[in-house]
Amino acid sequence: MSILVVGSVALDTVETPFTTVNETLGGAASYFTTAASLYTQVNLVAIVGSDFPREHLEFWRHRPVNLDGLQIKEGRTFRWTARYHMDMNARDTLETQLGVYADFHPHIPQTYRSSELLFLANIQPQLQLEVLEQVPRANLTVLDTMELWIMTTRSELTEVIKRVDVLLMSEEEIRQYTNRPGIVAGVRQLLEMGLHYVVVKQGSYGALLFGADGTFFSAPTYPLEEVIDPTGAGDAFAGGFLGYLSQVDLQANGHYTIDEIKRGVVHGNIIGSYVCEDFSIDRLRTLTIGDIATRYLRLVEYSHFDPNWHSR
Ligand code: AMP
Repeated sequence: MSILVVGSVALDTVETPFTTVNETLGGAASYFTTAASLYTQVNLVAIVGSDFPREHLEFWRHRPVNLDGLQIKEGRTFRWTARYHMDMNARDTLETQLGVYADFHPHIPQTYRSSELLFLANIQPQLQLEVLEQVPRANLTVLDTMELWIMTTRSELTEVIKRVDVLLMSEEEIRQYTNRPGIVAGVRQLLEMGLHYVVVKQGSYGALLFGADGTFFSAPTYPLEEVIDPTGAGDAFAGGFLGYLSQVDLQANGHYTIDEIKRGVVHGNIIGSYVCEDFSIDRLRTLTIGDIATRYLRLVEYSHFDPNWHSR
């Protein structure tokens, strides 16, 4: 199954307490595309300016990535600058320059319209709605968003949430959107909007899966010795999640089994952990399915405990 992704392709400047990298490949769709293309064909819809380094396109051309939907327009590529704190779960956005995204409207090429899986990566909710209009029949639709859209375009974001199957949000975003202090109550409110699943991203602490059917699953994180740059971990998570699901058979009712959804969340966690080991998408350039399999087994070992216990 191929995956259609719409989102930002950017040039990021990232400052950590130890290093700064300038105008490196970033953007939600870039992380997703690179991660998911380890599993299957990815159909990318995005826009870049005439200043976008061609070497990044060359890299994707060596992967199963279709670039027919990538618009290249005269002007400047989207740029984003951020600074991380010593606790790398916290960051400040210093600058966002929309560049060619200011006038962007996604056009989904005919060849992409049969994509069974759709990822609406971080981008203006209005544009995510335009995509849903063009691809109304995907098997599974996953949505990511950010604080900016919760604060500035809440009603459009609400429209998108009502039309997708799975929502990825950080704990903080759930509090901001639902106005509830507790995550479980916030997630319940979101599930009542018609979502099948909500995945709560917890940064270096893993991820929680909540299902409309009552499912709860806590996916452990991989204990990294050193985090170099956590940018894009959420998008890489989505790439691992949907990438894994792209290889799995659906049940007769057209849905995934809950065990497959859980495995997908674990794949997401694993790719999210790898991406933090280097700047930009760099760790994903050399990552293999074999590396993912090794970390998968480690996570089983780290999180399994014996259900049998005895009291004296
Ligand atoms: P994450 O760390 O998963 O939140 O993703 C970070 C990526 O999102 C960076 O590579 C940025 O280029 C991209 N990004 C930041 N702000 C925006 C925005 N307003 N719209 C779209 N993408 C953004």
